[in-house]
Amino acid sequence: MTNTPCFNRVLIANRGEIALRAIHVCQRLGIETVAVYSTADATSQHIWSADRALCIGPPPAQNSYLAALSLIHVANQTRCNALYPGYGFLSENADFAKQCAENDIKFIGPSVDTLRKMGDKAEARKIAIELGVPVVPGSDSAYLDVGEAKSTADEVGYPVLLKARAGGGGRGIRIVKQEAAFNSAFIQAFREAEATFNDGAIYIERFFPAVRHIEIQVIGDGQGNSLEFDERDCSVQRRHQKLVEESPSPVVSKDLRRQLLEAAAKLTQGIGYEGAGTIEFIFDTATGHFFFIEMNTRIQVEHPVTEVRTGLDLIEIQFDIALGKSLPKLDVNNMPGGHAIEFRINAEDWQQGFQPSPGNLNAWCAPKGTGIRVDTSVYQGQHISPFYDSMIAKLIIHGCDRKEALERARDALSNFQCDGIPTTIGFHRMLIEQEAFIDNGVNTRWLDTDLFPTGETEV
Ligand code: ADP
Ligand code: ADP
Ligand code: MG
Repeated sequence: MTNTPCFNRVLIANRGEIALRAIHVCQRLGIETVAVYSTADATSQHIWSADRALCIGPPPAQNSYLAALSLIHVANQTRCNALYPGYGFLSENADFAKQCAENDIKFIGPSVDTLRKMGDKAEARKIAIELGVPVVPGSDSAYLDVGEAKSTADEVGYPVLLKARAGGGGRGIRIVKQEAAFNSAFIQAFREAEATFNDGAIYIERFFPAVRHIEIQVIGDGQGNSLEFDERDCSVQRRHQKLVEESPSPVVSKDLRRQLLEAAAKLTQGIGYEGAGTIEFIFDTATGHFFFIEMNTRIQVEHPVTEVRTGLDLIEIQFDIALGKSLPKLDVNNMPGGHAIEFRINAEDWQQGFQPSPGNLNAWCAPKGTGIRVDTSVYQGQHISPFYDSMIAKLIIHGCDRKEALERARDALSNFQCDGIPTTIGFHRMLIEQEAFIDNGVNTRWLDTDLFPTGETEV
């Protein structure tokens, strides 16, 4: 017998567009919401939209959105019986999910055990291999010792990637092109990982110089049943961080899609996954091989790309699953389909190495129209603070095919009015005119090596 969870008041443990969107979903579902905010976010929209809002601390995330004890305290004080983590912050933190459970607060996401296993990226590789999913050639475990790591790298063959076991958000990744550079690169990677993730352990993967990033959105019910959706292609990346995501992938054939969905189902069902998650692969267009790289045990930034093609609300499904409901029934013949592209609008000066550009949003008027969706929480006149992730909006374009989606994107981007701070809107306007992008000739390093040739950090 499983206990059917039940909750009626949820703490929204996040900020920005994802907090706002979760609040709107709760309003539809009749669930009360309690928002939290740092003093830097005292004028943010998610505060006004929630039923209640409490300040939890000063601007640094460590003292506010990452302050696990404060969040649990606020949840208890306001009698919340669930917590929505969103993405980033504590969304993949197993210790935090455990604290929620110990306080009878339903963490809206996978189990503590799953968060722990998949949060260790070396362990996740092992599990994927056991379940018969193709995994990038590399090490069996993570290393603290440079000597042991080097003998593995020598076996795997150069170039290799060093990755932090606890890494995420594109950070803690380093290319080592030749054996002679290994030791110093490992030591640097180890130190960085320790400083960033509080865990220095590094694992090794063979580095593929020209791959596409392809990922599969999954939903599991925690009982071994799952749904998998058509791939998203997130190959336009800057320093391993996504800037544009689209679906379907222009380079994925029907047969490859079937294989990707099968691999994703094996993993999702094999670990009895609960909630929304994403299984990430790299795809080598030259050989046609694909390899698992990691599983993100949360909702992802680019989930709307899947939503506009399926007509589903993935955030609502996250709540439904957490409430013990079964997986939605998919009517594949009645889905919108077509082609979707998401452009991340970041407060960054793309002409100055994409450096963050906080400041006042003096003008802000997002485009509207057929096939245009904008997910954001910012408004004209708002101050964009320097303390958090620089993403301020997502422009999601839908068309009957890629050509129509690109045409609509061109119009939407040119009608996007934003002034006061530099943003990546200008970058996207430039990007969609690039032949390599229009003709699908990009790989995950194209931006760093071809478009902005000084962008890559490698040794
Ligand atoms: P997605 O895979 O959903 O596209 P990103 O990698 O862009 O997500 O990360 C989503 C958000 O979470 C960003 O704000 C990013 O900075 C943050 N993030 C992701 N992983 C981590 C992590 N391990 N530590 C800190 N922040 C992270
Ligand atoms: P994170 O947890 O930071 O998202 P990932 O392991 O997902 O890290 O890798 C981030 C990005 O780095 C991928 O999207 C892909 O573009 C690139 N990448 C990862 N592994 C490899 C590899 N073995 N070879 C080439 N590129 C890779
Ligand atoms: Mg990743």
